[in-house]
Amino acid sequence: MIGGGHAGTEAALAAARSGVRTLLLTHNIETLGAMSCNPSIGGIGKGHLVKEVDALGGAMAAATDEAGIQFRILNASKGPAVRATRAQADRQLYKQAIRNRLENQPNLTLFQQAADDLILVGDRVVGVVTQLGVRFEAPAVVLTAGTFLNGLVHVGLTNYRAGRFGDPAAISLAERLKEIKLPVGRLKTGTPPRLDGRSIDFSVLQVQPGDDPVPVFSFMGRREQHPRQVPCWITQTNSRTHDIIRSGLDRSPMFTGVIEGVGPRYCPSIEDKIHRFAGKDSHQIFLEPEGLDTHEIYPQGVSTSLPFDVQLALVRSIRGLENVHITRPGYAIEYDYFDPRNLKDSLETKSVAGLFFAGQINGTTGYEEAAAQGLLAGINAARCAKQLPAWSPRRDQAYLGVLVDDLITRGVSEPYRMFTSRAEYRLSLREDNADMRLTEAGRELGLVDDRRWEAFNRKRDAVALEAERLKSTWVNPRQLPEADAVRVLGQPMEREYRLFDLLRRPEVSYAGLLSLPGAGEGLVAPDVIEQVEIQAKYQGYIERQKDEVEKSLAHESMPLPSDLDYSEVHGLSFEVRQKLAQGRPQTLGQASRLQGMTPAAISLLLVHLKRRK
Ligand code: FAD
Repeated sequence: MIGGGHAGTEAALAAARSGVRTLLLTHNIETLGAMSCNPSIGGIGKGHLVKEVDALGGAMAAATDEAGIQFRILNASKGPAVRATRAQADRQLYKQAIRNRLENQPNLTLFQQAADDLILVGDRVVGVVTQLGVRFEAPAVVLTAGTFLNGLVHVGLTNYRAGRFGDPAAISLAERLKEIKLPVGRLKTGTPPRLDGRSIDFSVLQVQPGDDPVPVFSFMGRREQHPRQVPCWITQTNSRTHDIIRSGLDRSPMFTGVIEGVGPRYCPSIEDKIHRFAGKDSHQIFLEPEGLDTHEIYPQGVSTSLPFDVQLALVRSIRGLENVHITRPGYAIEYDYFDPRNLKDSLETKSVAGLFFAGQINGTTGYEEAAAQGLLAGINAARCAKQLPAWSPRRDQAYLGVLVDDLITRGVSEPYRMFTSRAEYRLSLREDNADMRLTEAGRELGLVDDRRWEAFNRKRDAVALEAERLKSTWVNPRQLPEADAVRVLGQPMEREYRLFDLLRRPEVSYAGLLSLPGAGEGLVAPDVIEQVEIQAKYQGYIERQKDEVEKSLAHESMPLPSDLDYSEVHGLSFEVRQKLAQGRPQTLGQASRLQGMTPAAISLLLVHLKRRK
């Protein structure tokens, strides 16, 4: 594994857990698990990925439980498909939690050195050479270099080479990758200045506490693992802030064309925001503690690469920050990424056998997207070393499947982040059932230990038993006092009902149901109750979605031979042939999601495949 960020550490842990001897090679052991930007994990779509990584035995959720200083459930009042956990983490505690796992993982060795070169034999990778010339041989290599390949940091019109503030860029490796003609592009991302909390006037700010009871991230997590919990605060930019920003645009690397890479649309810099939403005279800023033992505060919402004097003036124009001291300037970074359409669904590159890419290097942004890809690449690198077939979840099984499929079929034109809207089967792909969806696969892959497996089986059995009990327990109006029926159901009960069918009504909660005479003994485990309730309330929708999945599966997983000559497929336009030949999709499902593909083209392809048999 090359790289000790979020992709590299999950990759190394997953490979080692799968039982293969693994080396994690990284620039600096002190920065293992470092969060380059906001010390926060999860959020909408991202929390789903973290729970999936957890269900497959990964580290991110468990490390967050040990490091999280504020936890919230976002969209708590909305449907379960879009509910998501988000935690503010103590940056140092998070790094410690990750390093602790890496140092205690059997089969895993750490080594601090830059990887400068890949050793290739023909079109297969067989090892890596470090900066000091140390050679490591390996049947599989996972590259997770993040923003480090040809990294260029910008503050105003000043720029210099770096992987992120304070870390060296990876130049030799980037050049080597260009030599082997992997399709490379440029993207950019940015971060806000950090503030000294002692110079902030919190008394004028809106306080934002975490949730009570405090949520946990990992399916194995316990509330007692959390460190002390602290609040965040909210403030706003104003028209003076916006004037200051506008006055600095002539020295902005973004607006003067110095930065060529495309930035994340959903996480724009403050200068980008006031430019794009010119009619808005205020933007919300969240002030988030960087940890328990530091005064540093992360101002979410003012990511910027404006010159330092403009940064200082703009933050000081914000309420509560009038006398603020900046501890670290904000900056933007441009870096190389590789077109993920050159990857298989295992994350192995199509052009170099045994070479896997994961994380920001594939054009994504975010720790969670990186961790999920790292886990998958680690699993498949281990399987490649053991000469086992690759494993990858489908779009209907996991957000991880959606992420990888989006990347390899559509590529990226801007940094890719996960949203629930990207998943067509999102009602089935919820945070709360990530364990139900993936733990069994994780166990088969050798990633899930006995403790997790036993806990999972207990939960699964309890859900099944209770659902069965509710389906076979009837209540009838003659035994049920009318007052009770009205209290729980909102109306008198006109006939006999199964408890499960009553629970399907939106106004009936599990707790209410169990308070009915004759409803029997209930459950205590909230995670089991949650599953039973969701099963009842969304049964109709979930079953409809299952039917859709089954119908599409036959075509979805139909393999497209790697030697298929698309010029022989009758009726396809030249453009579609070219797209298929370039994209080389592995299945008909992947082909259907290539940009510009039409249902008619897929039918022609299907006819051709049937004829070929
Ligand atoms: P990284 O976390 O970057 O880790 C890469 C690792 O590889 C490092 O340990 C590095 O030392 C190592 N490495 C690199 N090259 C070599 C080599 N040749 N040899 C040995 N080791 C090597 N994400 C968001 O979601 N929202 C944001 O607002 C946001 N802002 C960001 C702002 C900045 C300035 C930066 C730098 C990143 C930002 N990110 C943001 C992105 C987030 O940090 C990344 O998506 C995430 O860290 C990617 O994880 P990764 O494992 O792919 O790479």
